[in-house]
Amino acid sequence: MNTVYNFSAGPAVLPKSVLEKAQSELVNYENSGMSVMELSHRSSLFETIIQGAETLLRELMNIPDNYKVLFLQGGASLQFTMVPLNLAQNRKALYINTGSWSKKAISEAKKLGNIEVEVIASSEDKNFSYIPEVRKEDIPQDAAYLHITTNNTIEGTTFYELPDAGNVPIIADMSSNILSVDYNVADFGLIYAGAQKNIGPAGLTVVIIKDELIGQVDVLSSMLDYSVHAKNGSMYNTPPTYGVYMAKLVFEWIKEHGGVQKMEELNKAKAAMLYNEIDHSTLFSSPVTPKDRSINNIPFVTGSDELDKKFNQEAVKEGFENIKGHRSVGGMRASLYNAFPKEGVEALIQFMKKFEAENG
Ligand code: PMP
Repeated sequence: MNTVYNFSAGPAVLPKSVLEKAQSELVNYENSGMSVMELSHRSSLFETIIQGAETLLRELMNIPDNYKVLFLQGGASLQFTMVPLNLAQNRKALYINTGSWSKKAISEAKKLGNIEVEVIASSEDKNFSYIPEVRKEDIPQDAAYLHITTNNTIEGTTFYELPDAGNVPIIADMSSNILSVDYNVADFGLIYAGAQKNIGPAGLTVVIIKDELIGQVDVLSSMLDYSVHAKNGSMYNTPPTYGVYMAKLVFEWIKEHGGVQKMEELNKAKAAMLYNEIDHSTLFSSPVTPKDRSINNIPFVTGSDELDKKFNQEAVKEGFENIKGHRSVGGMRASLYNAFPKEGVEALIQFMKKFEAENG
């Protein structure tokens, strides 16, 4: 088979060595005669896996002791509801609208009815091509939280500097740059991320929450209640056991490869190569304001729908999978998460040069 480079925004490329390790343990995990998929979540073998995953994540992200780590289901999308439901009932919740996923988070919070949702800044006026400035005086200090999307997967922007929210906890949808950009967990009240980009297969959602934010609501459906999941060590019901196992292998891989700072450094280098090509091209361009450009999701366009289509068709033939831009914005998008190899970026650049020479 020819080399395939998977530029998918998620589910995304996983480290080959992780997949191979999972393969080698698939049928018989640690001589148990069973697959991880077949283990009881109450077994000591699985307990070791989930505790190991938590310990590694705490180490990689330097998570303070007064934060809980939860392994949940329902995707980042369920967090659009769980966050306001647990943290902002009968209160004000602030949002910065930086893209399609922020918009969904805002719209889900509004559906709850007893939450005063206030969008304090937005970049919708320019197709979400930048991160809006927020001043501390724009942040009412009686709000329950300020929600941001640290990396906008579809539009390709990133918060490199967090807003100064004073005493208002920042809640971050970190789905597309968790473990890829080195944030300080203590700057946030809660972080959530769907696993399927930098952590492992889809089906697992990671929530990191400060203790003092847990347990503000008396009655909630158990599955929607952070305090229930926290009290039960993410085992109130059956957790996504195989997803947790895969996450643990990915965390080990990140640690072996130098940790999150190293990942950020490598991701920056990969992104810089591609942005350099885009910025020096007479055919391709980036729709994003340079200072806010994501190192994880890099959209680019030719300016012609026809040429974009041709590029995408020819790219697939060359083994560049999933490089087509999100259906809502078109063009192309290269998602370069931790596991995406530098060689894939080099190959893409060669292909772009050839395409430009033939079509520019
Ligand atoms: N937020 C962001 C920033 C995302 O990129 C995505 C998925 N691509 C989601 C939320 C939704 O995640 P899920 O599919 O896990 O619900």
